[in-house]
Amino acid sequence: MQKVNSEQIRNFCIIAHIDHGKSTLSDRLLEYTHTIEERKMKEQILDSMSIERERGITIKMQPVRMQYKAKDGKDYILNLIDTPGHVDFSYEVSRSLAAVEGAVLLVDATQGVQAQSLAVLDQAQKQGLYIIPAINKIDLPNARPKETKEEIASLLGVDTSEILEVSGKTGAGVELLLEEIVKKIPAPNIEEDGFKALVFDSVFDSYKGVIAYIRIFSGEVKKNDNIIFMRQEKEAEVLECGIFAPEFKQKDTLFSGEIGYLATGLKDIDSVRVGDTITLKNNPAKNPLEGYKEPKPMVFASFFPQDADDYDLLRDGLMKLKLNDSSLSFEPEQSEAFGRGFRCGFLGMLHLDIVKERLKREFGIEPLITIPSVSYKVVLKNKKEIFVYSPIQMPDQSQILSMQEPYVNLEIMTKPEYLGAVMKLLSQARAIYKDTKYLSQDKVLLLYDAPLSEIIIDFFDNLKSATSGYASLNYEFSEYRETELVKLDILVAKEKVEALSRIVPKERAYEIGKMMVTKLKEIIPRQLFAVSLQAAISGKIIAREDVPALRKDVTAHLYGGDVTRKKKLLEKQKKGKKKMRQMGKVNLPPEVFYQVLKK
Ligand code: GDP
Ligand code: MG
Repeated sequence: MQKVNSEQIRNFCIIAHIDHGKSTLSDRLLEYTHTIEERKMKEQILDSMSIERERGITIKMQPVRMQYKAKDGKDYILNLIDTPGHVDFSYEVSRSLAAVEGAVLLVDATQGVQAQSLAVLDQAQKQGLYIIPAINKIDLPNARPKETKEEIASLLGVDTSEILEVSGKTGAGVELLLEEIVKKIPAPNIEEDGFKALVFDSVFDSYKGVIAYIRIFSGEVKKNDNIIFMRQEKEAEVLECGIFAPEFKQKDTLFSGEIGYLATGLKDIDSVRVGDTITLKNNPAKNPLEGYKEPKPMVFASFFPQDADDYDLLRDGLMKLKLNDSSLSFEPEQSEAFGRGFRCGFLGMLHLDIVKERLKREFGIEPLITIPSVSYKVVLKNKKEIFVYSPIQMPDQSQILSMQEPYVNLEIMTKPEYLGAVMKLLSQARAIYKDTKYLSQDKVLLLYDAPLSEIIIDFFDNLKSATSGYASLNYEFSEYRETELVKLDILVAKEKVEALSRIVPKERAYEIGKMMVTKLKEIIPRQLFAVSLQAAISGKIIAREDVPALRKDVTAHLYGGDVTRKKKLLEKQKKGKKKMRQMGKVNLPPEVFYQVLKK
């Protein structure tokens, strides 16, 4: 067995705004280095989850190892981590960055620098990574290489001649890029502190237990070694170790500087945390690595099993998912209407959507999901502060001193010609202007403070349509600010449905109430009787819609002359109507709560 020389390892990731071509460029790198057999090659091969392929987006980071013989005649190991570009998955990006020494900053030459390009670049620079700038899609006739390079150059303070040109489609510029990676990105810095590896991701396998994705910073590890998770203080034995080809490929030993995986056999999922440091029992490290900041959930929704017996199934599914998606958080919750379930925290609405979808596909679970909400801070008269995620938790008005809602630092990048339209949208979203920065003559960055609740729902779609798809945005939590908030109730057939209540800003309550009943009218299936939908604040009705009755012709199948039977049936139907109305029982489909916020 040959020892891997860390001087010949390059660990890097590709960072970019969504759709600028990271996954496609990764394909070309894999092809060029013959990492994947030609017959197995398909587009965006690193997007291995079915949801990723269908939606054309990267959700998970995906590491892969390549072998490359450089012009200097030496053989290099290149570890690439492909990363997602959507703001909801920035935690995936930050974790990849901690495992590598350099980053290729890829910018679509038809779009130029966009909001997420700035955000990820900032992260990479803070991490001290070497940045290789490159423009992509140079094969397209509407590419603007000169302008795009100038934008990047002024951003990085480099000369435009240092910016590479590539095409993920044609493969142009790929060889130069590989050479640049080998020459410019530093080899891994090796510490001398026993064995030390960072867990940057993990996944559960029913045979091999928890599989930890690791970057080794010091020492080496092999099969049957006894490992310790330093922060969790959990011991395990290495059942198998190996590299990403990109599928798991066994190796005898993993050396310092390498990126690979360890199968631990651990079945109690709770014992492994992303960001933990693994060391060896017989070669311990003194200090754990820094790890990661816990991600901050932005959106909350409760998940309840549709059948109470499936509670354990739901918990198990969430736990396994969390192992592979450490930005998901959840805790048990009890509700009068829905029984036992979990209050879950997400980084955004897309994240929620993906978790919902993965639960269904990977675990066959379709829970009832309540209306997503941000978390509000309530200051009580006794000065105590509590957080509430749903109106059910709201304390009585008499106990409340003030209420606060989360605000974000919002950055929007657009063209000057759309400034008016964008600023109008922002003022509708109660956002507060801070600053304008010109990146170039036709690219402007707007800085605002905005309430998170306004940004997470359909702001992005509205922004896209106001700017012909041009504008891009990025945001991060800043602070809690005082707002006048009210509880908005929804009455279905005159009966308050607690699970449809929401906390909303007073100044927008009417508008939101109107929107909700209109949307509900669309999604509530017609019943045998007319159903009224009302929005109310403190018992006062502010909006109303009606779902017309569905007249089921129960006599349709009775042709011929049996009039008495027809009559009887119609009687029965009438009674049935009455009974249902009396109970006020409208059967709401489980998707209602979740969908009422969607466009
Ligand atoms: P990611 O979100 O950064 O991973 O971007 P993808 O790799 O998924 O690419 C987004 C879209 O751009 C896809 O439809 C690709 O086919 C397309 N694309 C990527 N690179 C190029 C390129 O160099 N030229 C052209 N013409 N299209 C590209
Ligand atoms: Mg991608």
